[in-house]
Amino acid sequence: MKHLRLAELLKQPKKYDNVTVQGWVRTFRANRFIALNDGSTIENLQCVVDFENTDDLILKKINTGAAVKISGQLVESMGKGQSIEVLVKTLQIIGEADPELYPIQPKKHSFEYLREKAHLRIRTATFGAVMRIRSVLSFAIHQFFQDKGFYYVHTPIITGSDAEGAGEMFRVSVLDPKNPPTDDNGAIDFKQDFFGKETKLTVSGQLEAETFAQGLGNVYTFGPTFRAENSNTSRHLAEFWMIEPEMAFYDLADNMDLAEEFIKYTLNYILEKCDKDLTFLDQRLEQEEKTKPQNQRSPMGLIEKIKFVVENEFKRVSYTEAIDILKNSKPNKKKKFNYLVEEWGTDLQSEHERYLVEQHFNAPVILFDYPAKIKAFYMRMNEDQKTVRAMDILFPGIGEIVGGSQREERLDVLEQRIKVMGIDAEELWWYLDLRRFGSTPHSGFGLGFDRLVLFATGMSNIRDVIPFPRTPQNASF
Ligand code: ATP
Ligand code: MN
Repeated sequence: MKHLRLAELLKQPKKYDNVTVQGWVRTFRANRFIALNDGSTIENLQCVVDFENTDDLILKKINTGAAVKISGQLVESMGKGQSIEVLVKTLQIIGEADPELYPIQPKKHSFEYLREKAHLRIRTATFGAVMRIRSVLSFAIHQFFQDKGFYYVHTPIITGSDAEGAGEMFRVSVLDPKNPPTDDNGAIDFKQDFFGKETKLTVSGQLEAETFAQGLGNVYTFGPTFRAENSNTSRHLAEFWMIEPEMAFYDLADNMDLAEEFIKYTLNYILEKCDKDLTFLDQRLEQEEKTKPQNQRSPMGLIEKIKFVVENEFKRVSYTEAIDILKNSKPNKKKKFNYLVEEWGTDLQSEHERYLVEQHFNAPVILFDYPAKIKAFYMRMNEDQKTVRAMDILFPGIGEIVGGSQREERLDVLEQRIKVMGIDAEELWWYLDLRRFGSTPHSGFGLGFDRLVLFATGMSNIRDVIPFPRTPQNASF
C-alpha cells in the first residue's frame, strides 16, 4: 500500500479506506490515542491503537518523537478535535525515541531552550508552521518577479570590493592565522592569499545586480548576505537572506510602487496558501499577548495585521516631514525617547521608526529623501544637494524591512560623492563603467527576507524564523 502524506490524505479523506501513513509521534494518550505528524501540515492525524491486542513492548516504544509506520482504516471520529481518525491495524516502530533522553516533550518549551535544540525544534508545531510559511514565501517571491518578467541573478557571495558600505564584513582567507605572510611594511600580505587580494563575504548583491539590470533590464537576487555587526537585537542576524531587485529606467516613485506591490503580493500569497499554519500562529500569538500587561498588547491579531498591510496604502513621507512629526511628538517633548530628535540630519533610531509606524500613522510607512550624509554613496543626489533619493519601508513591530534608492547614474556626481566619502574609486572601476557606457536612471531595493518572515509569522525574534541562526557568539549546528 502506498504511503500517503498527511496533507494529501486530509485534503480529501475517504472514509473506510485503508491507509498507510508514516510520521513522528507528537503525543500518545491513554495507551490508545497517537497524535501523528509527518511535517506536511500543521494537522495531526489521530491514530487509535487497540492496546488490548498490541504487544506491550511495542506500546512502550510509542513515545513522543518516535518514528512510526501505521496502517489501518480511516473512519469518522467519535472524539472532539478531529473529523476522522485511523483505526490502527499494524504499527511498526521505525525509529525509537527514548523518553528519558528526547529533549522535545509534549509541554511548553521556551524558544530560548529550543534554540539550543535547533536540530529538533522543527518537530514542534510552531517551528513547523514558521518554516512551511518561510518556504511558501520564498516561492511567492520568485513567482512575483518571474510573472513580471524579471530575471533571477546569482550575485557572488565572496566579494573583493569592500566599498558596499553596508556594514562590517567577514574576511574570507586561507592564510595561516598564526603565521600570515607579511609585506615590507609588516602588514598581512593578501597577495599571497587564495584570491591574490583581500576578500570578504558579501553584505549585498546590489552592485553586481546593477550590472545585470543594465543589460537584462529588470533583475532580482535572492541569496544569503553577511554582516559582522555586533548588533545583538531581535531583528539582526550575521547571516541573513535578502531579495534585491534592480530595475533600469525606474525612478524612485516606480521603485516605491514596486516594493509596495511586491510586499502585498507575497503576504497575500501566504494568506491564500498557508491558512492553517497562519491560524495556528495567530492563536499562538494571542496566547502570548495575554501574558503581557494590557498596555503592551498588540491591538491586532496576526492575520488581521497581515490583512491590514495587504489592504491599506503605505504612507509615503519625506524624511524632512518625519523629523517635524518626531520633533513635535509627545515622547520627544516629554523626553521619553532614548535619543531625542533635535535637528534635521540625524539618523532615525528604531524607537523613532516605530513611533511613526505604530503611533502616528498606524500603517506601514515609506520614508524617502534622506540626508545624503547618512546614506550610501550610490544614492541619487537631489536638486537641493542635501538629500538623496533613498527610501526605507518601515513596518509595525519590525522597523526597517526595506532599504532602497534610485541610484546615481551621473558619472561626475557619483565620482564626486565617492571622493567626499573617502571611498577607493579604483576598486569601483567596473561600477563606474556602468555610468560611462549607456547609463540609465535606475533603482532598486533590498528586502530582508527573515524580517518579512518575522512579520508574516508573528514571531518576536528573528532567530526563530531562520533554520540555524548565526549571531554574535553563536554558530552552532
Ligand atoms: P538596520 O538599520 O535595521 O540595521 P540596514 O539599514 O543596515 O538595516 P540595509 O543595509 O538597507 O539595512 O539592508 C536592507 C534590508 O536588509 C533591511 O531593510 C533589512 O530588512 C535587512 N537587514 C539588514 N541588516 C540585517 C540583519 N543584520 N539581519 C537581518 N536582516 C537585515
Ligand atoms: Mn544595519
